Amino acid sequence: MKIRIERGDITKMETEAVVNAANAVFIGGGGVDGAIHRAAGPELAKACAKFPRNKAGEWCPTGEARTTPAFGIKPAKWVIHTAGPDCREMGVEEAKPLLAKCYRSCMEEAVKVGAKSIAFPAISTGIFGFPKELAPAIAVKEARAFLAAHPELEVVFCCFGERDAACYTAELGA
Ligand code: ADP
Repeated sequence: MKIRIERGDITKMETEAVVNAANAVFIGGGGVDGAIHRAAGPELAKACAKFPRNKAGEWCPTGEARTTPAFGIKPAKWVIHTAGPDCREMGVEEAKPLLAKCYRSCMEEAVKVGAKSIAFPAISTGIFGFPKELAPAIAVKEARAFLAAHPELEVVFCCFGERDAACYTAELGA
């Protein structure tokens, strides 16, 4: 199975698709979202704004994913935006299946647009407060299950810091 860890910035990954840890309501914020929008340029926010919003005002409801071009982010062709669960608003147990859904939704989008590779940041483990030690088990489980049915896809877990890398390495046994 093509699963690996890559250290560094999500905007520097060499995959065809990069995942944005987005916000369901707001377009462009801090953390990964800010870095992605800065690297992609202003076209990205315009592309995100074209998605219809639901009654709650959400352009990308929690657990779902939306795909845009990558604009200034190279060599990626697509940014796949997903809104992770916010642990400031719900408990970790409630957040777990939603986080799993984020990974699934993004990989489904990747296959739909024809991306051969996808890089994930550690969704929800920053501002949204999902425990960094618990997230990789969910991410890796979903990736393994998805790749069993879609062996053509390559999954990269982008680890921004030492701690992320240690958590993913422990999970993957690498
Ligand atoms: P969320 O709001 O979903 O919690 P954040 O963007 O706050 O998302 O952070 C998610 C994770 O991404 C954090 O663990 C953080 O260390 C990591 N991170 C922050 N900036 C970057 C970046 N430029 N590239 C990759 N990972 C990043």
